[in-house]
Amino acid sequence: MIQGQNVQTNPPACIFSCALTWGNLTDNLWPVEMLEAIEKLLILQDRDRRIARLRNELNNIVPERQSLQSRTASSLTAFEAAKHRVKQIETDRKKLELDVESKKQVIEKYSLQQFQTKKNDEYRALAREIEMARDAIVKLEDQQLELMEQAETAQKEAATATRVAEDSRRVADKLLADLTKKEENLQKELAGLEADRDQLAAAVDHSVLPRYERLRKSKGENVVVGVAHGVCGGCHMKLQRQVVVSCQGSQEIVHCPNCGRILYYTRDMSLAVAE
Ligand SMILES: [Zn+2]
Repeated sequence: MIQGQNVQTNPPACIFSCALTWGNLTDNLWPVEMLEAIEKLLILQDRDRRIARLRNELNNIVPERQSLQSRTASSLTAFEAAKHRVKQIETDRKKLELDVESKKQVIEKYSLQQFQTKKNDEYRALAREIEMARDAIVKLEDQQLELMEQAETAQKEAATATRVAEDSRRVADKLLADLTKKEENLQKELAGLEADRDQLAAAVDHSVLPRYERLRKSKGENVVVGVAHGVCGGCHMKLQRQVVVSCQGSQEIVHCPNCGRILYYTRDMSLAVAE
């Protein structure tokens, strides 16, 4: 911020006529008081911007954490599903074993009855039953083979799902830990910035501060804006010559007639003035 060494409260007499060549004036003609007011506003605005950015970063951490957690959760769900499938196949396979066993018992029982009977009809009927039970056993054994193949595939899938879930958990844990560390640092930094924010605000001219605070609520972080090429740095509307000249005069706080933002002007900004 440009600041003169000598305090001069009044602008030079030629303020209006030489407005376009204001930048050629020497430092010690620069009115100091108003610049200080603007400078303090700019310091406060810079602080408020940094605070807003940090709060925004902190707010972003919540969804970031949720997305990491949900990614881990979905790989865990896939792992659970694969494990469940392995168990289900095993259960089905055991049931088939029991079915085979019971068919074998049927065959045994009918064979015994066949051995004991003296009637041809009964003997043949039992023979048919035994044949049917044997056919059923063949079918059950085919199903068992099919299930064993399925079990092999399911076990491979479960192993993969386990690996994926473990990897995902490991990566997520690391990222979550980083995120927590980042959050702590941001909170610490934010606390530091907020701690003396009120002090910075108190240093601002009391007649300007309420307006600044109001504008901050309605316009966001761009409240004290420069004038470049005769245009408001906030709403980008062309400013009337009179307004630009007042800014250059730096004798009072000047507001943009269009958006109400607080305007300031330094010599490194373009001198162009609206027609
Ligand atoms: Zn404006």
